Amino acid sequence: MNISDVKYSGQFYEAEVPNTFDIAERAALGIQGIAGSIDPDRGHTMWFYIRYDVKKPYMLHTSSDISNAWKLLDDISMMRQICGSDEHLELEKKYRAHALGNIKDGLIWDIYDEKDPRPWRSHHNDNVPGNLRYGEDFAISGAGPRAMQTMQTWQQIDRSPVWDRYAEEIMDGFLRIALTKDDYIYLPPDGGYGHPFSYPASGWISTREPLNVNESSEGNILGMLGFPLLGCAMWNRFTGDPKALDIARRSYNFIKQTRFWGKTIDPNPPPGILPNLAPRLPDPVGIAGGEMGHWNHHLHAHARSLRGILEYGMASGDLNAVEFVKRAYEYSWSLGIPRVGWINCFPGGSNMMEGCAMGGLIALAIKLSETGVGDYWDDVDSIVRNILAESQYTREDIMQEMSDNMIRPHVVHGTGFDREPGPGQKCDVNVLKRTKGSILSLVFPDHVASPWIMHCCTGNGLQGFYYAWEGAVRENGDSAQVNLLFNRASKGLDVDSWLPYQGKVVIKNKSMKNIAVRIPGWTDKKQVKQFVNNRPVDFMYAGNYICFTGLSPRDEIKLELSVPIMTNRYTVSARTKYEKTYTVTTRGSTVVDISPRRTGEGIYPMFLRDEMKTAVDPGMKKIRRYVPDKTVTLW
Ligand SMILES: [Zn+2]
Repeated sequence: MNISDVKYSGQFYEAEVPNTFDIAERAALGIQGIAGSIDPDRGHTMWFYIRYDVKKPYMLHTSSDISNAWKLLDDISMMRQICGSDEHLELEKKYRAHALGNIKDGLIWDIYDEKDPRPWRSHHNDNVPGNLRYGEDFAISGAGPRAMQTMQTWQQIDRSPVWDRYAEEIMDGFLRIALTKDDYIYLPPDGGYGHPFSYPASGWISTREPLNVNESSEGNILGMLGFPLLGCAMWNRFTGDPKALDIARRSYNFIKQTRFWGKTIDPNPPPGILPNLAPRLPDPVGIAGGEMGHWNHHLHAHARSLRGILEYGMASGDLNAVEFVKRAYEYSWSLGIPRVGWINCFPGGSNMMEGCAMGGLIALAIKLSETGVGDYWDDVDSIVRNILAESQYTREDIMQEMSDNMIRPHVVHGTGFDREPGPGQKCDVNVLKRTKGSILSLVFPDHVASPWIMHCCTGNGLQGFYYAWEGAVRENGDSAQVNLLFNRASKGLDVDSWLPYQGKVVIKNKSMKNIAVRIPGWTDKKQVKQFVNNRPVDFMYAGNYICFTGLSPRDEIKLELSVPIMTNRYTVSARTKYEKTYTVTTRGSTVVDISPRRTGEGIYPMFLRDEMKTAVDPGMKKIRRYVPDKTVTLW
């Protein structure tokens, strides 16, 4: 197979827009953060791990460098779709070539090289044996189906058939190593070593099937086993390929078993046992959590499987699958603060949200809204404007000051990839500047403690920006639906938003006849005023949407809505040692204040938004807007 370059194309034009939240800026920064984390001297692999909470911030190679490449490659392409950046194209090409070079016989390999042995390659953490067969190649079983998602993105951009052929090969590779029992397929948690669910070149060490959700070196099987379900269900929806649907169906049959869902964590585990590894407590009285997709630890791992179940439900028409995901999704918000877009991903064990989970939740919210079983666009708005925006590392000045005050040269605690770095594992050159734009990994509602990055979070978090950007405006023929009210350029119309400073949104029509605009849940619908070319017009509400029909090119729609300032108190991690009550002030869907705030050594603060509390004029800015020729709509 030839290695194909992805050919991007689109149109730029000058525009003056309100100086408010703009995902295009975030996307350009995201590309910078990724490019700064790629090691050109080691065949273009990433430093998966970044530590800012040390005297001199550094990046580390880890056993996850190769498996996560497909997320970052997907991000680069998606971010280019949003902002049109052509920076680092050469690096992207080499990075893609390296990642494709690891595919052999449909599996993605971590290949042993005597001249560059990378001792970290088979050591995921101290809980699992590493280095058992040190010199052996191993395949990362989840990476293949994840790569199919990236190829689906590329196929939509450049229409090259090479990606279909790769996907076919990957499905065959996966079926060759997957284990079959009754009507399901699975992968064994102790089948390999090092990276979770790795497949040694000499074959599985053990074929034992997982019995509990919290097995494997990742501490959760649903993250890795969710890859073939999600990747193949998506591929079937994209191409109609029956083999993809068959893999998805048999993965779903395994994953949906009630033994992997429900129950609650023990907030007071037996001495010496971490809450995530301790035996679970039963569901609360009256709740059959296993039937409803309840989870108790590692939201993101569950979210990937839930995304897979939902895609499978949409692909197969299985409404039971869709219902399961809806109930799981709604339950998840009971463990967080919806207005902040934040959920405690590790109840009973800590009080933090993982960057990965932000992307997963946005995907679930949008896809569930698409199926019609709910309207979750306000959740998307809350996540993307608040916790996700704040988790993107943008404030180099603050990070510099924080790190200047640190004393320790490196971090050593428990897990294998935190120990003193080995030779060739570490890079500490210009890290603060070059990684800006990446997504911080574990965040409290008000701050980040000991800021660090696992690039899975950059991978999945930046995807969240893409999903929200793509979902914000959707066009079909001469009709468009505007689902989210932030600045957004698209083929048929442009959205200029003064939110949250003023309740003013202007939609500049280019070629649409009909435009339906979703009015957010936090405003009083009866008070909304709407104008076309500055003349008040009658309107028709359909659900939460105002419908404008009979439009001409260059018509300008203006909406005026009230933006309430709301303050409320939210208690998280109730009845655990992490219980805490936050007071949150929002203006529309934008968090403008949160308290109490933690300060002190090693703290990267969030929501420094004082100027947003009262200002009514965000000012205007001149920008180059970008619209891609072909938008990736199936993700
Ligand atoms: Zn992550």
